[in-house]
Amino acid sequence: MSVLIYPGSFDPFTVGHLDIARRASRLCGTLYVAVLPNPDKQSAFTPEERVRMIEACVQDLPNVRVECHGGLLADYYRRTGAVGAVRGLRGARDVQYELEQAMGNRLFEPGYEVLFIPCRPDYSWISSSLVREVARLGGDISNLVPAVNVRRVRERLFAGEQPSED
Ligand code: ADP
Repeated sequence: MSVLIYPGSFDPFTVGHLDIARRASRLCGTLYVAVLPNPDKQSAFTPEERVRMIEACVQDLPNVRVECHGGLLADYYRRTGAVGAVRGLRGARDVQYELEQAMGNRLFEPGYEVLFIPCRPDYSWISSSLVREVARLGGDISNLVPAVNVRRVRERLFAGEQPSED
């Protein structure tokens, strides 16, 4: 069975991300959820923390593995034997952005496909940045983040806990 990767920042992983991972896992033998660190962006959670938080969400999905990958995506494809990547689409803005990314990446990763999965309509407004904003203000994030991570996100963003060294 084929291998797919689901790359993203996942800072933090939302219920929308989990829904895409769950659905993508049914389409392949193994799904690698790849946390891609972005050194240019200040993130709320370290890549290692994000890996652990995602692992806690996908425990019931035996063919899903979670890793952090810092290099070129093409190297990750080669190492995992993946045939392509999965990306979620929330609306017209994602379509535009994701298509441009996918077409650009073809220059560096010819031969790898991108599978687009439309998000659940009721999750179309959910993003990691919304979660961070609501959590910082002390709002209710229980419908935005998988239950297992709600307390962790609140502690980091509302209570002002410092990122841990991994
Ligand atoms: P990136 O910074 O790489 O865009 P994100 O963590 O924001 O990473 O998102 C990773 C992937 O998940 C992207 O394909 C994005 O479109 C998708 N995604 C984000 N939010 C949702 C959602 N609410 N429902 C479905 N897919 C989503």
